[in-house]
Amino acid sequence: MQVSVTDGVFEILDDIAELATISAPGDGVTRLAYSDEDAAARLWFKNRCEKLGLRFDVDSLGTCFGWSQGSERQQAVLLGSHLDSVLHGGRYDGVLGVVVGFEVARRILSIDPSAALGVVSFACEEGSRFGVGAIGSRVCAEAVDIDSLERLNDLDGLPFREVLLQAGFDQLRDARLDPKRIGCFLEVHIDQGSALAATSDVGIVTAITGQIRTRISWKGQTAHSGAHSRSERRNSLLGAARFIAAAEELWEELEGAGQVATITVGRVDNWPNAANSVSGRTQVVVDLRTVDPEVLSKAQLEIQERARVAAQKTGLEVEIETLGRVEPVDMASEIVTLLQRTAEECGIRHRLLPSMAGHDAEVIAPVVPTAMLFVANPAAVSHSSEEAMSEESLASSLRLLDAAMPELLSKMEPRVPHEEVCDDEHG
Ligand SMILES: [Zn+2]
Repeated sequence: MQVSVTDGVFEILDDIAELATISAPGDGVTRLAYSDEDAAARLWFKNRCEKLGLRFDVDSLGTCFGWSQGSERQQAVLLGSHLDSVLHGGRYDGVLGVVVGFEVARRILSIDPSAALGVVSFACEEGSRFGVGAIGSRVCAEAVDIDSLERLNDLDGLPFREVLLQAGFDQLRDARLDPKRIGCFLEVHIDQGSALAATSDVGIVTAITGQIRTRISWKGQTAHSGAHSRSERRNSLLGAARFIAAAEELWEELEGAGQVATITVGRVDNWPNAANSVSGRTQVVVDLRTVDPEVLSKAQLEIQERARVAAQKTGLEVEIETLGRVEPVDMASEIVTLLQRTAEECGIRHRLLPSMAGHDAEVIAPVVPTAMLFVANPAAVSHSSEEAMSEESLASSLRLLDAAMPELLSKMEPRVPHEEVCDDEHG
């Protein structure tokens, strides 16, 4: 018999509360990748697998899996997210996707013990310890050169390999996820902003944003604040200020054209940064995000152009450097359609939306058909101890998954080709 949604919500809230206690001291939840707390969360995952009769597996980077018996014969529907956290983060980011994965497994296996399911917790999703995120999923998807991880150091300067060794993983080696054993990946995640809270319970993610980070430096001349007239000055901070206003206008123009994008200047470094000096050098980092690759490229050119115009107007030299580009990734349209149709049939308040933050789902999507669901967050903030979750929204997500999972599971292909099953020896 189907387990009730109310019962499922209680289970999930219990698990979230239990995991929230596995934290370093201080405000919120601190469970940095490869810390003692992270190891305790892996142990929690292993115990949870045993309780549900799932086969526990952990790869060489600490990504944990729980596989149902049915997944030995058939491609699995894989559900999950991550159990590491930022410093003083909330209790839902990442955790929600893993505990929902276990609850869905419990619900499905109570009806059909042969269902092909997997639950995953990807290692080191947050960039808080090494400055780079989604390391476990990148290794699973072969989206990173394993040797490049050797160059990473953590907040205290410890090399990645050393940290891994201390956490009990003695070899830094490839841990590619076999895409043949997984039919699709579904990541449930807390909404990290205000996109859902007022209007919908469930967000069905259509795409995950692309990003470009650009460093812009303006060079002028440092001078005495009292001794230099306005016409004489080459004030780099003024150039940066003109640019920041122009970048905001560009964002407004993109919005006016109906584009989903964000432009943020969140970092400014200024020299000599003194009250009685005209600034001689100012540097900013611009974070540009949009789900349309063409808009991403065009907006990037426009950002560069506006940086040059700001320099011209202020008599400055300008240097522009692209620090990194991540392409936008579409979620699997057939799963998005299935989730949307099911939400409509069940009368669930939902909306389709892009994710403007990066997730493991974005890394896995090129390898395995992937989808994401967002659960409403009344606090509209994440990576903060104030992060919250709407229980009604969670219940709606669970109802949606209850209704959609049988169809997803029915699409899973057998894992072993027939000719291998009927081999000669066994007649
Ligand atoms: Zn997350």
